[in-house]
Amino acid sequence: MNKVYLDNAATTALDARVLELMLPYLQNTYGNPSSVHGYGREARTLIEKARRKVAELLSVSPSEIFFTSGATESNNTILFGNVLHNGIKHIITSPIEHHAVLHTVQYLEKMGWCKVSYVKLDPKGGVDLEDLENQTKKHPNSLVSLMHANNEIGNLIDLALVANICKENQCLLHSDTVQTIGQVKHDLKNTPLDFMVGSAHKFYGPKGVGFLYSKNPIAPFIHGGAQERNVRGGTENLHGIIGLAKAMEISYAEMEANQNRTLYLKRLLIESLQQNIPDVVFNGYSNDVEKSIHKIVSITLPNSQNSDLILFSLDIEGIYVSGGSACTSGSLIGSHVLNELHPGSENSVLRFSIGKDNTEEEILNAVAVLQKIYQNNQGK
Ligand code: PLP
Repeated sequence: MNKVYLDNAATTALDARVLELMLPYLQNTYGNPSSVHGYGREARTLIEKARRKVAELLSVSPSEIFFTSGATESNNTILFGNVLHNGIKHIITSPIEHHAVLHTVQYLEKMGWCKVSYVKLDPKGGVDLEDLENQTKKHPNSLVSLMHANNEIGNLIDLALVANICKENQCLLHSDTVQTIGQVKHDLKNTPLDFMVGSAHKFYGPKGVGFLYSKNPIAPFIHGGAQERNVRGGTENLHGIIGLAKAMEISYAEMEANQNRTLYLKRLLIESLQQNIPDVVFNGYSNDVEKSIHKIVSITLPNSQNSDLILFSLDIEGIYVSGGSACTSGSLIGSHVLNELHPGSENSVLRFSIGKDNTEEEILNAVAVLQKIYQNNQGK
């Protein structure tokens, strides 16, 4: 049975060109970048080359890029560093951030290190910019943390607009950009954003490697050696960093073609769901191609109460999707994002996330299989 993988917001397949580039650095040139001998020096040179590539793609300076183990660590580093060492006393965020941000700010508040307030959302989870403006005026010199694209419902924020609101009110802006790095261009020369994060496995690179962008070095979250200019202790993930830079380079080179293709498939998925499952409900702005990222469609099936049963049945048929997000699939607490938008709802939530290798046939097949399963599950 051919598998249909529609869970690309959870993770993506490693691009064969990235794997090919990484392999020699696992097998042959495996030096520790901190070693002074030839292998070590070569590793150091490669890491700095990768840093220059990432910086060039984001229009920033290489000194503003720090490699980490991924976005969870990058978000923690930025949030802890700002609160514990940069004098931030207040964080303004939203209740539908990824847990890598939400649980971190909740922890910082619980420890009494800062206060947290949450921006108002419209009924579809869009950030109320007027409320953001009021809150930044009320709490100047705070840190605003708002994700660029929501990983569950795909909602996008207008990063330039949000960045300008923050700047006008002397607030710093951190954006969890995990779902948009490699998907859309970020021009940091023209967007006054202070901190952003990326994770290679979301753009066809390897798992366990990411980066953070910060104008100034930030206090370490992981203490240890002096790697990454004292921002992140621990031997650098050489092959991972090389893979990250290559995956990002490829994603930028092929961005327009991939965006167009994915958007076409998203439209096809939306139309096909509407035609075949007339009571389907789209979550957030995921069926509005202007207000959501091109790869995510999130739906609720109103006459079915069990996401897990539907996910399980799809799995048996080789269709791989998630509940709210991959992190919440199979968890009894459900999605905090969907609970925020539709409190108390126990309907089935499914997230389709489209990747660069999906085909029309796969989309149509997934909808046909879902329709059959849904008919058999109504009310269960
Ligand atoms: N932030 C968002 C929006 C995500 O979607 C994810 C992963 O799903 C993360 C953070 C965590 O990324 P990582 O797996 O690299 O730690």
